Order: sequence, then C-alpha cells, then structure tokens
Amino acid sequence: MKLKTFTIALISSVLLSACSSKQPDVTLHVFNCGNVEVRDISIFSPGVDEGETKHLTNSCYLIQHNKGSMIWDTGLADALGSEGAEAFGGKLKLTVTHPLSDQLAAININPEDINFIGISHFHGDHTGNANLFGNASLLIQQAEYDAAFGEDPTKFGFNPPSYAQLDKSKIKVLNGDHDVFGDGKVVIKSAPGHTPGHQVLFLNLEETGPVVLSGDLYHFTKNREHRRVPSFNFDKEQTLAAMEVIEQFTDAKGAQFWIQHDKEQNQTIKHSPEFYQ
Ligand SMILES: [Zn+2]
Repeated sequence: MKLKTFTIALISSVLLSACSSKQPDVTLHVFNCGNVEVRDISIFSPGVDEGETKHLTNSCYLIQHNKGSMIWDTGLADALGSEGAEAFGGKLKLTVTHPLSDQLAAININPEDINFIGISHFHGDHTGNANLFGNASLLIQQAEYDAAFGEDPTKFGFNPPSYAQLDKSKIKVLNGDHDVFGDGKVVIKSAPGHTPGHQVLFLNLEETGPVVLSGDLYHFTKNREHRRVPSFNFDKEQTLAAMEVIEQFTDAKGAQFWIQHDKEQNQTIKHSPEFYQ
C-alpha cells in the first residue's frame, strides 16, 4: 500500500472508531403517561393539607442499552383518554393526554420489540399499558409476584386485566437487587412497603450521571422532605425502612432523585423525543 493510501485508510479507521465510540451505552427517554388530579392530597400525607387539591403527573421511561431495551412503568391506560375516569371513591381524577403507544411510535419504537418490562409496582397507574409489552420479560420481586398473580390481586389495589397479556413464561422473579445488563448501568433496587414488592431503578448514565427513578417511594417533593407515608401503603414500617435504604444509596452514589409523580419536578426534566444519555 502506498504511503498516501495507507495514511487515508488509517485516518478513516480512526475517525470511524471515534464515531462509533461516541454511541452512548445507555439512553433514557421520559414519557408523560397520564395526569392525576388529587382532590384530597391528604390520602398521600395523612393529617396534612386535608381537602386540598394537588395535581400529579405520571411517568414512564424507556431505557435503551447496547445489550437490550427496557420499559420502566407503563402508566395509566391509553384508553382512559382525556375524558378520563374517577378512582379512589372520587378522590382521584385520572386522564391520559399523551398515549404511550403514540409516544413510542414517534421515536420509531415497536413495543413488541422491547426486551424487558420493569414495573415499580402493580398499582393500575403503573400497569395501565403493560399489555403492549407482551413479548418482554417481566422483572418483578417475589413478593409483588405473589400478590399480582396470587388468589386476590384486587385486595392489593391491582387490576389483573391490565397485565393479563404479559408472557408468563418469560417472567423473571427477583429476590432483591438485580443488575439488568450486568454492567451496573441499569439496576433494579428492592424498596418494599408501598406494595409488597415495590422497587426502584438506578441508572448510571455517561453524560447525565447517576439517576434514581424512585417509583412511588414518594409521590411529591414535600412528602420526601418529611418522609410521609400514604394511608393506603401496604406496610408503613417497611416503607420507612426502604426510604432510609434508598436515601442512603442515593447519597452514596451522588445520584439525582426523580419522583415519578411529581409534576413540578417533571416540568424541569426533558421529555421524549428528547432523551438523556
Ligand atoms: Zn403511582
């Protein structure tokens, strides 16, 4: 090979590898997956702000890793639409203004191609669109599995038809923390109490840094500041213990802490089609 040709080949291969090494290992899309008007916020903070209305958001997330993809929470059912429905004896009004299926289509994602479905817990505002992900492997704690697929899921506030299409043969039952892709970048952390097997998700993003997607450990910032436990939690003591563990973990990692239902915080976070990496 002549020197000039060799030099050009060398430069192009260096450029190519520089480009390919720029591909992030992990990206994160955030979706609005519904709106929750709470007509008495004290159901989330017993004895505090009784009768006051507060607006919460509802979030889902797509994590794309070079070894596969995962949806984290699936929101309120797209079918609710903007008309919505009441819940919790009329204390909640639930609406969906941005269907998850449309938001995925807008970034060319077919839900049937998603590899993993991680659900923080099985309340209906997190399993609403689970049936879109029938091909994915569900990552669920043993205690949540026992409640969701046991004799009476409704007594835990779960809605079995909303997750009936999940492929039961692909379910992976967890007992504690789970490193989804084996490199510490996407890790499920057990945080029980809100429901029997509630869990949160830790992400270690190259540019953004570490982030905790905190499920329903808290529903809004003031509850985090005071560590208040909603009246309808499965186990109050377990919840307080999980809060302590996850707060210490978050501190140790220097992670951002994202409260999935906090409307004000979510207004400061980029939503799809923009993404974090
Ligand atoms: Zn929720």
